[in-house]
Amino acid sequence: MRVLHKNFVMTLTTTANSLSSAATAPLTLALSKGRIFEQTVPLLRAAGITVSEDPDTSRKLILSTSRSDVRVIVVRASDVPTYVQYGAADFGVAGGDVLMEHGMTGLYVPIDLGIAKCRLSVAVMAGFDYAYAVRQGARLRVATKYVATAREHFANKGVYVDLIKLYGSMELAPLVGLADAIVDLVSSGSTLRANQLIEVEEIAAISARLVVNQAALKLKRAQLSPILDAFAVAAQ
Ligand code: ATP
Ligand code: MG
Repeated sequence: MRVLHKNFVMTLTTTANSLSSAATAPLTLALSKGRIFEQTVPLLRAAGITVSEDPDTSRKLILSTSRSDVRVIVVRASDVPTYVQYGAADFGVAGGDVLMEHGMTGLYVPIDLGIAKCRLSVAVMAGFDYAYAVRQGARLRVATKYVATAREHFANKGVYVDLIKLYGSMELAPLVGLADAIVDLVSSGSTLRANQLIEVEEIAAISARLVVNQAALKLKRAQLSPILDAFAVAAQ
């Protein structure tokens, strides 16, 4: 009861603070380094916004832009939804893979930006008969960074899996006997080929989405709307 009360007061205080500062507060955009940043630059340009520095060469995590009321924060790709959900960033750009894994709670996802396109797929070692294993009702060991998404995919197919959480280099897992299969992003397929893996099932087509904090959309609509509109037009 005491804890509930404390949280309630904190919520009220936070809301009051964001209300009073809504008119003057800068808009914060969460981006990850690399392909998401690079492919978002042209969309920002369409909205009249230039980022002051390239996060791949700068060590700064907060970057100013050509607009004094817009700043960019540089976060891990998989952390973008978290920053936006909690309102530490008003909006951000996140891969569909990251959003599926994280969930959409507290997020408004208005625009498919059509950038950073790839697919989320199941891959196995060449020679492993995946279709046969599935037909036999075999229990598969699957290594992935996308544990929640993979669990749902295989549950929907009625395939029993033991999921092994990895943070990178998923392609290695089948080669050294850690897993029968991996669930990972594929674009050209060259990484899979280089490691004698074959793609056996596509789980989802992936592209990056604009994500907006639901409260910011209401409180900062005047600042946000023109930027969202410009993104929507540029993304077509
Ligand atoms: P981190 O390095 O912090 O673990 P990451 O590897 O997910 O993050 P990126 O490789 O920049 O970071 O990927 C960011 C997003 O770009 C992914 O979430 C996905 O949506 C997309 N993406 C990843 N790999 C590819 C690819 N090969 N081709 C196209 N888009 C991709
Ligand atoms: Mg990567």
